Amino acid sequence: MGEGDITTLYIVATPIGNMEDITLRAIRILKEVDYVLCEDTRTTQNLLNRYDIKTKTMSYHAHSTENKESVIINLLKNGKNLALVSDAGTPCISDPGVMLVDHVKKEFGDEVKVVPIPGPSALISALSASGVSSAEFIFLGFLPHKKGRETLFKEIAQSKRVIVFYESTHRILKTLASLIKYAPTFKIVIGRELTKQFEQFVEGTPAEILEYFTVNSDKQRGEFVVIVEPK
Ligand code: SAM
Repeated sequence: MGEGDITTLYIVATPIGNMEDITLRAIRILKEVDYVLCEDTRTTQNLLNRYDIKTKTMSYHAHSTENKESVIINLLKNGKNLALVSDAGTPCISDPGVMLVDHVKKEFGDEVKVVPIPGPSALISALSASGVSSAEFIFLGFLPHKKGRETLFKEIAQSKRVIVFYESTHRILKTLASLIKYAPTFKIVIGRELTKQFEQFVEGTPAEILEYFTVNSDKQRGEFVVIVEPK
Protein backbone atom coordinates (compact mmCIF):
# COMPACT_ATOMS: atom_id res chain seq x y z
CA MET A 1 0.00 0.00 0.00
CA GLY A 2 1.01 3.65 -0.35
CA GLU A 3 1.60 6.15 2.46
CA GLY A 4 -2.04 5.59 3.36
CA ASP A 5 -3.97 2.39 2.74
CA ILE A 6 -4.76 2.97 -0.93
CA THR A 7 -2.67 1.88 -3.90
CA THR A 8 -0.79 4.96 -5.08
CA LEU A 9 0.95 6.39 -8.11
CA TYR A 10 3.43 8.99 -6.85
CA ILE A 11 4.60 11.78 -9.15
CA VAL A 12 8.08 12.40 -7.82
CA ALA A 13 10.19 15.49 -8.58
CA THR A 14 13.92 14.82 -8.98
CA PRO A 15 16.97 17.14 -9.31
CA ILE A 16 17.43 19.42 -12.34
CA GLY A 17 21.20 19.27 -12.02
CA ASN A 18 22.46 19.27 -8.45
CA MET A 19 21.90 15.75 -7.14
CA GLU A 20 21.36 17.07 -3.61
CA ASP A 21 18.11 18.71 -4.66
CA ILE A 22 15.83 15.88 -3.69
CA THR A 23 13.49 15.81 -0.72
CA LEU A 24 13.65 13.34 2.16
CA ARG A 25 10.12 12.30 1.30
CA ALA A 26 11.05 11.66 -2.34
CA ILE A 27 13.92 9.41 -1.25
CA ARG A 28 11.68 7.48 1.13
CA ILE A 29 8.93 7.05 -1.47
CA LEU A 30 11.41 5.91 -4.13
CA LYS A 31 12.64 3.30 -1.62
CA GLU A 32 9.17 2.15 -0.61
CA VAL A 33 7.37 1.79 -3.95
CA ASP A 34 7.35 -1.46 -5.93
CA TYR A 35 8.59 0.12 -9.17
CA VAL A 36 9.99 3.42 -10.36
CA LEU A 37 8.70 4.40 -13.80
CA CYS A 38 11.49 6.31 -15.55
CA GLU A 39 11.78 8.44 -18.65
CA ASP A 40 15.30 7.01 -19.07
CA THR A 41 16.21 4.14 -16.77
CA ARG A 42 19.96 4.84 -16.99
CA THR A 43 19.57 8.48 -15.93
CA THR A 44 17.34 7.56 -13.00
CA GLN A 45 19.56 4.65 -12.00
CA ASN A 46 22.38 7.16 -11.31
CA LEU A 47 20.10 8.97 -8.88
CA LEU A 48 18.90 5.75 -7.26
CA ASN A 49 22.49 4.55 -6.81
CA ARG A 50 23.47 7.83 -5.22
CA TYR A 51 20.79 7.38 -2.51
CA ASP A 52 21.17 3.62 -2.21
CA ILE A 53 17.67 3.02 -3.53
CA LYS A 54 17.30 -0.57 -4.69
CA THR A 55 13.80 -0.35 -6.19
CA LYS A 56 13.33 -1.88 -9.64
CA THR A 57 12.94 0.52 -12.55
CA MET A 58 10.71 0.31 -15.59
CA SER A 59 10.74 2.63 -18.57
CA TYR A 60 7.85 4.97 -19.29
CA HIS A 61 8.47 7.80 -21.74
CA ALA A 62 6.88 9.98 -24.40
CA HIS A 63 6.92 7.13 -26.92
CA SER A 64 5.64 4.40 -24.63
CA THR A 65 2.95 2.30 -26.26
CA GLU A 66 -0.59 1.68 -25.02
CA ASN A 67 0.61 -1.81 -24.22
CA LYS A 68 3.13 -0.33 -21.77
CA GLU A 69 0.36 1.70 -20.18
CA SER A 70 -1.75 -1.42 -19.72
CA VAL A 71 1.18 -3.15 -18.01
CA ILE A 72 1.31 -0.21 -15.60
CA ILE A 73 -2.47 -0.24 -15.09
CA ASN A 74 -2.27 -3.95 -14.29
CA LEU A 75 0.43 -3.35 -11.69
CA LEU A 76 -1.85 -0.83 -9.99
CA LYS A 77 -4.77 -3.30 -10.23
CA ASN A 78 -2.57 -5.76 -8.37
CA GLY A 79 -1.99 -3.25 -5.58
CA LYS A 80 1.55 -2.27 -6.56
CA ASN A 81 2.61 1.25 -5.62
CA LEU A 82 4.48 3.12 -8.32
CA ALA A 83 6.58 6.27 -8.56
CA LEU A 84 6.80 8.20 -11.82
CA VAL A 85 9.95 10.26 -12.40
CA SER A 86 11.31 12.11 -15.41
CA ASP A 87 14.95 12.73 -16.29
CA ALA A 88 14.94 16.00 -14.37
CA GLY A 89 12.51 18.14 -12.43
CA THR A 90 8.82 17.59 -12.01
CA PRO A 91 7.20 14.91 -14.19
CA CYS A 92 4.32 16.06 -16.41
CA ILE A 93 5.70 19.63 -16.57
CA SER A 94 6.86 19.69 -20.21
CA ASP A 95 7.68 16.05 -19.56
CA PRO A 96 5.92 12.71 -20.09
CA GLY A 97 3.31 11.43 -17.68
CA VAL A 98 0.15 13.43 -18.28
CA MET A 99 -1.47 10.68 -20.39
CA LEU A 100 -0.66 8.09 -17.76
CA VAL A 101 -2.06 10.19 -14.91
CA ASP A 102 -5.21 10.87 -16.94
CA HIS A 103 -5.55 7.17 -17.77
CA VAL A 104 -5.10 6.14 -14.11
CA LYS A 105 -7.70 8.66 -12.91
CA LYS A 106 -10.21 7.50 -15.54
CA GLU A 107 -9.55 3.81 -14.93
CA PHE A 108 -9.59 3.83 -11.13
CA GLY A 109 -11.37 6.96 -9.92
CA ASP A 110 -10.88 7.02 -6.14
CA GLU A 111 -9.54 3.46 -5.99
CA VAL A 112 -5.98 4.55 -6.79
CA LYS A 113 -4.49 7.77 -5.47
CA VAL A 114 -2.25 9.99 -7.58
CA VAL A 115 0.01 11.87 -5.18
CA PRO A 116 2.52 14.62 -6.03
CA ILE A 117 5.88 14.58 -4.26
CA PRO A 118 6.98 18.18 -4.86
CA GLY A 119 10.52 19.26 -5.56
CA PRO A 120 12.60 20.95 -8.24
CA SER A 121 11.21 22.42 -11.41
CA ALA A 122 13.32 24.58 -13.72
CA LEU A 123 10.64 27.20 -14.26
CA ILE A 124 10.06 27.84 -10.55
CA SER A 125 13.80 27.80 -9.81
CA ALA A 126 14.43 30.37 -12.53
CA LEU A 127 11.58 32.63 -11.46
CA SER A 128 12.52 32.45 -7.79
CA ALA A 129 15.95 34.00 -8.34
CA SER A 130 15.14 36.21 -11.33
CA GLY A 131 14.05 39.36 -9.53
CA VAL A 132 11.00 39.42 -11.79
CA SER A 133 7.63 39.56 -10.05
CA SER A 134 5.97 36.19 -10.34
CA ALA A 135 2.71 37.17 -8.69
CA GLU A 136 1.23 36.38 -12.09
CA PHE A 137 2.89 34.70 -15.02
CA ILE A 138 2.12 32.61 -18.07
CA PHE A 139 4.13 29.46 -18.70
CA LEU A 140 4.40 28.35 -22.32
CA GLY A 141 6.52 25.22 -21.96
CA PHE A 142 8.56 24.76 -25.17
CA LEU A 143 7.66 27.12 -28.01
CA PRO A 144 6.57 25.45 -31.26
CA HIS A 145 9.46 25.02 -33.71
CA LYS A 146 7.61 26.08 -36.81
CA LYS A 147 3.82 26.32 -37.04
CA GLY A 148 2.43 29.05 -34.82
CA ARG A 149 5.83 30.28 -33.70
CA GLU A 150 5.65 33.76 -35.23
CA THR A 151 2.07 34.23 -34.03
CA LEU A 152 3.14 33.29 -30.53
CA PHE A 153 5.90 35.92 -30.55
CA LYS A 154 3.33 38.50 -31.65
CA GLU A 155 1.16 37.45 -28.70
CA ILE A 156 4.14 37.65 -26.33
CA ALA A 157 4.74 41.21 -27.57
CA GLN A 158 1.14 42.12 -26.64
CA SER A 159 1.31 40.50 -23.22
CA LYS A 160 0.91 42.51 -20.03
CA ARG A 161 1.99 39.50 -18.00
CA VAL A 162 5.36 37.92 -17.38
CA ILE A 163 5.94 34.98 -19.72
CA VAL A 164 8.18 32.03 -18.99
CA PHE A 165 9.24 29.30 -21.38
CA TYR A 166 11.82 26.56 -21.86
CA GLU A 167 14.46 26.76 -24.55
CA SER A 168 17.22 24.53 -25.85
CA THR A 169 20.75 25.21 -27.02
CA HIS A 170 19.62 24.75 -30.63
CA ARG A 171 17.09 27.55 -30.66
CA ILE A 172 18.20 30.10 -28.06
CA LEU A 173 19.73 32.51 -30.61
CA LYS A 174 16.75 32.18 -32.94
CA THR A 175 14.43 32.94 -30.03
CA LEU A 176 16.42 36.02 -29.05
CA ALA A 177 16.31 37.21 -32.67
CA SER A 178 12.51 36.89 -32.63
CA LEU A 179 12.31 38.78 -29.33
CA ILE A 180 14.43 41.57 -30.86
CA LYS A 181 11.96 41.70 -33.74
CA TYR A 182 8.73 41.62 -31.73
CA ALA A 183 9.53 42.77 -28.19
CA PRO A 184 12.75 44.82 -28.36
CA THR A 185 12.12 46.85 -25.20
CA PHE A 186 11.13 43.96 -22.94
CA LYS A 187 13.36 42.85 -20.08
CA ILE A 188 14.60 39.30 -20.51
CA VAL A 189 16.09 37.15 -17.76
CA ILE A 190 17.63 33.86 -18.77
CA GLY A 191 18.35 31.17 -16.19
CA ARG A 192 20.97 28.86 -17.62
CA GLU A 193 22.25 25.52 -16.26
CA LEU A 194 20.39 26.06 -12.99
CA THR A 195 21.79 24.25 -9.94
CA LYS A 196 24.74 23.03 -12.04
CA GLN A 197 28.41 24.04 -12.01
CA PHE A 198 27.99 26.79 -14.60
CA GLU A 199 24.67 28.16 -13.37
CA GLN A 200 24.08 31.64 -14.64
CA PHE A 201 21.47 34.38 -14.84
CA VAL A 202 21.75 36.81 -17.76
CA GLU A 203 19.48 39.82 -18.01
CA GLY A 204 18.93 42.68 -20.40
CA THR A 205 17.03 43.58 -23.52
CA PRO A 206 16.83 40.87 -26.18
CA ALA A 207 19.57 42.66 -28.18
CA GLU A 208 21.90 42.89 -25.17
CA ILE A 209 21.48 39.21 -24.41
CA LEU A 210 21.95 38.16 -28.03
CA GLU A 211 25.17 40.14 -28.11
CA TYR A 212 26.33 38.49 -24.87
CA PHE A 213 25.70 35.01 -26.23
CA THR A 214 27.31 35.88 -29.55
CA VAL A 215 30.48 37.17 -27.88
CA ASN A 216 30.50 34.32 -25.33
CA SER A 217 29.60 31.48 -27.66
CA ASP A 218 30.45 28.83 -25.01
CA LYS A 219 27.45 30.12 -23.04
CA GLN A 220 25.07 29.11 -25.81
CA ARG A 221 25.30 25.54 -24.59
CA GLY A 222 23.15 24.11 -21.84
CA GLU A 223 19.58 24.31 -20.68
CA PHE A 224 17.65 27.56 -20.54
CA VAL A 225 14.60 29.08 -18.93
CA VAL A 226 13.57 32.34 -20.58
CA ILE A 227 11.62 34.93 -18.58
CA VAL A 228 10.09 37.81 -20.49
CA GLU A 229 8.93 40.89 -18.60
CA PRO A 230 6.82 43.40 -20.56
CA LYS A 231 8.24 46.94 -20.52
N1 SAM B 1 9.99 18.69 -15.99
C1 SAM B 1 11.11 19.60 -16.02
C2 SAM B 1 10.92 20.64 -14.92
O1 SAM B 1 10.08 20.44 -14.04
O2 SAM B 1 11.65 21.63 -14.91
C3 SAM B 1 11.30 20.21 -17.37
C4 SAM B 1 11.63 19.20 -18.43
S1 SAM B 1 11.82 19.86 -20.02
C5 SAM B 1 11.87 18.38 -21.01
C6 SAM B 1 13.52 20.29 -20.11
C7 SAM B 1 13.71 21.79 -20.23
O3 SAM B 1 13.62 22.37 -18.92
C8 SAM B 1 15.09 22.17 -20.73
O4 SAM B 1 15.14 22.21 -22.15
C9 SAM B 1 15.26 23.56 -20.16
O5 SAM B 1 14.57 24.51 -20.92
C10 SAM B 1 14.56 23.39 -18.80
N2 SAM B 1 15.55 22.97 -17.79
C11 SAM B 1 15.65 21.76 -17.22
N3 SAM B 1 16.69 21.74 -16.36
C12 SAM B 1 17.23 22.99 -16.38
C13 SAM B 1 18.33 23.61 -15.72
N4 SAM B 1 19.08 22.92 -14.87
N5 SAM B 1 18.59 24.90 -15.99
C14 SAM B 1 17.84 25.60 -16.87
N6 SAM B 1 16.79 25.06 -17.54
C15 SAM B 1 16.50 23.78 -17.29
